[in-house]
Amino acid sequence: MTRVTYLGFPRIGRRRELKRALETYWRDGDAAPLLDTARELRARHWQLAREAGVDVVPANDFSLYDHVLDHAVLFDAIPARYRPAFAADPLRGYFAMARGDAELHALEMTKWFDTNYHYLVPELQAGQSFRLTGDKPLAEWREAQALGIEARPVLLGPVSFLRLSKTVDGSDPLQLLDALLPVYAELLAQLAAAGVAWVQIDEPCLVLDLDAPTRQAYEKAYATLAKGATPKRLLATYFGALQDNLALAASLPVDGLHVDLVRAPEQLDAVLTALPADRVLSAGVVDGRNVWRSRPAQVSALLEHATRRGSDQLWLAPSCSLLHVPIDAEQETQLAGDLRSWLAFARQKLEELRLYADALAGDAQAREQLAQQTARLEARGRAPGVQRQDVRGRLQALSPQATLRRSERPYRRSVQAGALKLPPLPTTTIGSFPQTDALRRARAEHRAGRLDTAAYESVLAEEIQHVLKQQEALGLDVLVHGEPERNDMVEYFGEQLEGFAFTRHGWVQSYGSRCVKPPLIWGDVARPAPMTVRWSSYAQSLTEKPVKGMLTGPVTVLQWSFVRDDLPRETVCRQLALALRDEVHDLERAGIQVIQIDEPALREGLPLRHAEQAHYLDWAVQCFRITAGGVADATQIHTHMCYSEFNAIIEAVSALDADVISIESSRSRMELLDAFERFRYPGDIGPGVYDIHSPRVPATTEMAGLLRKALEVLDAGQLWVNPDCGLKTRGWTEVNQALAAMVAAAHELRGELAQRAA
Ligand code: GLN
Ligand code: ZN
Repeated sequence: MTRVTYLGFPRIGRRRELKRALETYWRDGDAAPLLDTARELRARHWQLAREAGVDVVPANDFSLYDHVLDHAVLFDAIPARYRPAFAADPLRGYFAMARGDAELHALEMTKWFDTNYHYLVPELQAGQSFRLTGDKPLAEWREAQALGIEARPVLLGPVSFLRLSKTVDGSDPLQLLDALLPVYAELLAQLAAAGVAWVQIDEPCLVLDLDAPTRQAYEKAYATLAKGATPKRLLATYFGALQDNLALAASLPVDGLHVDLVRAPEQLDAVLTALPADRVLSAGVVDGRNVWRSRPAQVSALLEHATRRGSDQLWLAPSCSLLHVPIDAEQETQLAGDLRSWLAFARQKLEELRLYADALAGDAQAREQLAQQTARLEARGRAPGVQRQDVRGRLQALSPQATLRRSERPYRRSVQAGALKLPPLPTTTIGSFPQTDALRRARAEHRAGRLDTAAYESVLAEEIQHVLKQQEALGLDVLVHGEPERNDMVEYFGEQLEGFAFTRHGWVQSYGSRCVKPPLIWGDVARPAPMTVRWSSYAQSLTEKPVKGMLTGPVTVLQWSFVRDDLPRETVCRQLALALRDEVHDLERAGIQVIQIDEPALREGLPLRHAEQAHYLDWAVQCFRITAGGVADATQIHTHMCYSEFNAIIEAVSALDADVISIESSRSRMELLDAFERFRYPGDIGPGVYDIHSPRVPATTEMAGLLRKALEVLDAGQLWVNPDCGLKTRGWTEVNQALAAMVAAAHELRGELAQRAA
């Protein structure tokens, strides 16, 4: 019989129970309630999966903070600085690695492939050893057993573990493979001895472009692991096609292979041909990365082929772990119209898989339910708002001219210099100022209907007055209104655009206890009315200095939402770009001379395979340019990006044709600047001079030092002075101190430049 399974489940809980338990533990230090909550969540989620009709559940997919960190700890890959904390209390040591503590800084955190989930990067060292500590995979498997549920422990595979790690000495982490493999072998033997039938070994790096040493590492690792005592092994790949790695993956001595047939349905035939007949095929047929119900016709077409494998050799699963979707769409009772019936969160995805499996086995009722799903999805295509003539017509009429500014950059620069009269090395901030408790409270009260709109707006107006007064006192050159009216930089715009909807409990883990609630883009996107003009013009009316208008760019709105799956992402992005373009024009008409369009997520959307990157960058850049295009030469367009590796895409960043970019770089001590040794960036640029994620107030000398470093590769005429990112998470005291020091650093450098000129 075709079995239904899945690779991993959201850990956070329907109501973010894990988040609450973590925060309580961090406050009180009492581990027992945290561990109880964790155990309850695992049990509840397994039970939920069973009720949805799943045959085999994963175990050890749960984590208190991050699964990559769990593996580092399991293998004793613990950097020396954390050892004393571990010795005192392993849980304290674990969280010190995850988030730092009073003395220790945390491990580096980075995005898990192209998702918005962040993992902790294991820190390794040439020549180090590993050993097995603890028995988390086995213990969690036993928990499921005790509940009478058949489970399969999940491990991150050795090659992906090493590829996702870094070394402190710059050596290749793969060189540690020989040291690491015995630990995996021991772990597999331990599981086999306990009676575990199958393990799932995740090797998502198999969907990346791999060099020869990594391929060899795969061959060696899996040949070694096949030798000893071991449960059967399901090798799991996801987030894309195996492509040129298919032959490698299919040749590895394992017992089953999971493939992503949502992002890469076209690989099915090749997989069926390449995979030896005795292997299980786990077919990832419903989307683990998005929230819409699957299309029965598409899935059934895949399954018709896949059954060549024989039903005992075929498993059905979501494309990847369900970590990236919320748990239960049933909770979203407030959603308008039929929207909820179009949604499948984790629970609904498992139910869908059950239907597909039953339908394959000839169950008439399952077939009938899938037919109803098809009908509902067809109705969705005709629902009001899904296909708007006005939006589609405008997109069709869009000419390439729309992406162009009126003049080239050098001419614009001179016009803007005349209009704005800024000093050399102008100072500015990224947009937000501290979101104080009072502001959050007022917003919550207003939402709950306890504070009327007039009263709420006067809170905002007062805050804007305060923010402007502070900036004038600090002597900043280009001011901002501080974004006090915004809960979130995507949600704020989504709420004012048509085609968006918001869930109440649609939380997804971003890292550790931090969750995000991405909006749903379900229909064509349009802007019924201006969104930011009011507060921006109010702020401008309070000062002689230029106030920057502040928008979230189309690519970032797209990237941080759940996007409808019946249109290509690039089409949805162009709709967003047109809506935001209207906003840019309205700001300009209202007298705003400087407009910033934030694109912090531009890098995150970059496809994992090199061959697909150019096309993405093409349309992403085009969408930004549609948003900014058409303004007067005198209007200065800024953009902002942060917390990604930009060096590789600096050409695309330049192609945005923004007049000024502010970009994070202080954390890496201006590593970004290396890019400018090979590429002459033509625009103005403000490499961030201090890390806003840290409460530490940087000294003037430190920031002046970074600016001097920047001036080694940039012209004085193109350099701006600004922090790394927005200040909303900081307190006023530190912000005032840090900005005062930053302005002083700019003055110091201006003095040096004047002297040099004299
Ligand atoms: N303008 C936004 C802010 O200052 C930018 C935030 C971001 O880059 N994530 O908060
Ligand atoms: Zn930022």
